[in-house]
Amino acid sequence: MNELELKDKTAVITGGAGVICSEMARALALQGVRTAIIDLNKEAALKIAGEIEKESGTPSMGLAASVLDKSSLNAAREELISRFGPADILVNGAGGNAASATTKVEMIEGNEELTDTFFGLGIDGFDQVFDLNFKGTLLPTMVFAADMVKRRSGTIINISSMNSYRPLTKIAAYSAAKAAVNNFTQWLAVHFAKTGVRVNAIAPGFLLTNQNRFLLIDEKTGELTARAKKIIGNTPMDRFGTPGELTGTLLYLASGLSKFVTGIVIPVDGGFSAYSGV
Ligand code: NAD
Repeated sequence: MNELELKDKTAVITGGAGVICSEMARALALQGVRTAIIDLNKEAALKIAGEIEKESGTPSMGLAASVLDKSSLNAAREELISRFGPADILVNGAGGNAASATTKVEMIEGNEELTDTFFGLGIDGFDQVFDLNFKGTLLPTMVFAADMVKRRSGTIINISSMNSYRPLTKIAAYSAAKAAVNNFTQWLAVHFAKTGVRVNAIAPGFLLTNQNRFLLIDEKTGELTARAKKIIGNTPMDRFGTPGELTGTLLYLASGLSKFVTGIVIPVDGGFSAYSGV
């Protein structure tokens, strides 16, 4: 039996029009998986789905929904069921940080404005980042995993981050929200363990994408920021990763190759989480 066999399965990918998850959807489609690209950005979702269908020859649909709006997710599920049937795979990919939940300085030295530190963070920024990353994982799981539990089969893959293991400076809300995603991954894996539905997560290392560009590239010069140089300096493989480098782990977690694996968070990080910096 080929444990990697995924042909004719159906996957829902939230945030599927984004940099990482569009690549994940492509990788699944190349294995013969029908993909539903769910994104807030309808145009981008339709475009990615069209490209995927063309490239892979596997049906793909773009659906506009917000991972924070259960009724829009329910409507997406109805559409999914009428065209592809229920989801076998759910990738909870919508997520990200916000500038309003990011401090200007890494550590308090004593001579900076307090508003540039923890004290300048807005609770609205915390709400936004917690909602998108945590509730944005919870709600699609409530909507799409019920069919999996009823059919006693399915796999859920949450997208976490390096900052979930040890928080990164500046991004207090995003780090805490991704730590919550890891915790929830373990909780749900246990809760579902007897149902045949597995729950795991991938923690990508550092990639250069839209959500972190403002932290990693100097707007004026286009050069790497000091922070970006520090990241590369702490990544033993000495570079940023690419979205395509996450897809091997995705296929492993989505397929029977990992059939006895549930409740884990796999770092894909060029060695970042293993390195003490010395
Ligand atoms: P991205 O900004 O390219 O993509 C995110 C997508 O989510 C966008 O298409 C956006 O329209 C969509 N989205 C935003 N809010 C939504 C909502 N409420 N409902 C539905 N869709 C919504 O981001 P990315 O870098 O590809 O990140 C994807 C995931 O990977 C996120 O969970 C992110 O936290 C995580 N991640 C990214 C990195 C990185 O270096 N880029 C590293 C670790 C983890």
